[in-house]
Amino acid sequence: MHVPDADVLSPLTLDGHFTFHDAPAMARDFGNRCSLLPAAVLHPGSVSDIAAAVGHVFSLGERSPLTVAARGHGHSLMCQSQAAGGIVVKMESLRGDRLQVVHGGGVPPFVDAPGGELWINVLHETLKYGLAPKSWTDYLHLTVGGTLSNAGVSGQAFRHGPQVSNVNQLEIVTGRGDVVTCSPEENADLFYAALGGLGQFGIITRARIALEPAPKMVRWIRVLYSDFASFTEDQEMLIMAEKTFDYIEGFVIINRTGILNNWRTSFKPQDPVQASRFQSDGRVLYCLELTKKFNGDDVDTMEQEVTALLSRLGYIRSTMFHTDVTYLEFLDRVHTSEVKLRAQGLWEVPHPWLNLLIPRSSIQIFAKEVFGKILKDSNNGPILLYPVNKSKWDNRTSVVIPDEEIFYLVGFLSSAPSLSGHGSVAHAMNLNNQIVEFCEEADIGMKQYLAAYTTQQQWKAHFGARWETFERRKHTYDPLAILAPGQRIFPKAS
Ligand code: FAD
Repeated sequence: MHVPDADVLSPLTLDGHFTFHDAPAMARDFGNRCSLLPAAVLHPGSVSDIAAAVGHVFSLGERSPLTVAARGHGHSLMCQSQAAGGIVVKMESLRGDRLQVVHGGGVPPFVDAPGGELWINVLHETLKYGLAPKSWTDYLHLTVGGTLSNAGVSGQAFRHGPQVSNVNQLEIVTGRGDVVTCSPEENADLFYAALGGLGQFGIITRARIALEPAPKMVRWIRVLYSDFASFTEDQEMLIMAEKTFDYIEGFVIINRTGILNNWRTSFKPQDPVQASRFQSDGRVLYCLELTKKFNGDDVDTMEQEVTALLSRLGYIRSTMFHTDVTYLEFLDRVHTSEVKLRAQGLWEVPHPWLNLLIPRSSIQIFAKEVFGKILKDSNNGPILLYPVNKSKWDNRTSVVIPDEEIFYLVGFLSSAPSLSGHGSVAHAMNLNNQIVEFCEEADIGMKQYLAAYTTQQQWKAHFGARWETFERRKHTYDPLAILAPGQRIFPKAS
């Protein structure tokens, strides 16, 4: 491949600058399983820099092989924010200065955040005003533009929808280098295209995100089930109930030793004696994870509501654990694990993750086949499993979901620290492949989330009836297929 050098980029006058020495660092991501070396890294000093760079590549026309990838925090799994021989735009260079909270004046509160801003910083800023975004991901050291290009799903999605359902406006640099403001009222087609659009239609340089009053504290609760049907019945009842918890997730534990003992470092058992007798070895267990917000003066009301809700559930009574933490501590909980894993050298390892969206009608047969049969343990990383409701997802966005009112997010979040054996990429991929094959053979209507398909044929199958719209939008907003080449959806014509 022809690799462009500094000469190709020299006509550009920028507020920021290009670098070349740090290209190898941009050829890495959280997945740690593939590497595409870019030719140059743009550290934009302004939105105009991004527009100038993309516009310049556009002006070079079809014959130039140059592509442009926006890089958020590089937390993709399979090269999605990389660009072989192209330009990587380090979106984090543009964060901070334009983070602005707007409240009062008779309009619902919102924050304007740069596309390269980390969600944790958005939270810190909005908390200064007693406000916070409504919908989250489990981990906040991801960028606004990065998660909005996927969907952004966590335990609040059942109530508020994913993060893409909580955006009022976007500023976007299209694949032609135009800077466009868009919203449901203005340039709506581009607005919905970019949400969940895998970076294909433009680079999100600013997002206007809806806010709500932030609580000071949350009660964070975990309970266990041994019966999958009662676990999912309770999850579904809770996400459909009017009065319910504020966050509802769940995870699967397979053949883990002393699981409740591990929880004791951060959670209090309601019944310490019974909890200490509980054996998790050799069993498949399902943990329901919940929170309820409170502020301090309303702790009694919160406790009454929690007690009433828990009394309706069928969990194993001796396994109720809880803790009270600040809202910030709860939302930033995965970072606490990150710090521990980093200290053990276990963060920057390969992550052969598999994220699936499974329709409610298939979740029981899926569980029967996967938990305990294909997967004999859950020692390589968490397995998330929780339901969300389709009515909270806007079907005008680019996000692909199963066609059923309730569907489950099931995340197999494996780490692969060893080169061979149980903790290797090969082992995890073998299991992932068996799970995907089962879904395909049983035709259960599964869709992948954060998918890493490698051919357009696979992407067409993924989008199904929505492919036509996706392709039309690509021709409109990025006709030369310059943007986000690492998604491998539209090869650049050259
Ligand atoms: P990158 O990985 O850098 O980019 C992702 C894609 O978007 C690339 O194609 C890139 O080119 C494009 N892109 C980046 N910035 C922009 C922009 N400003 N405009 C247009 N396109 C852009 N996801 C969930 O939904 N829920 C979770 O709970 C969740 N938890 C996670 C926990 C961890 C530990 C990790 C590593 C990831 C998690 N994710 C979760 C996945 C996350 O949404 C993706 O990794 C996503 O890619 C965000 O990462 P990023 O900001 O680093 O973006």
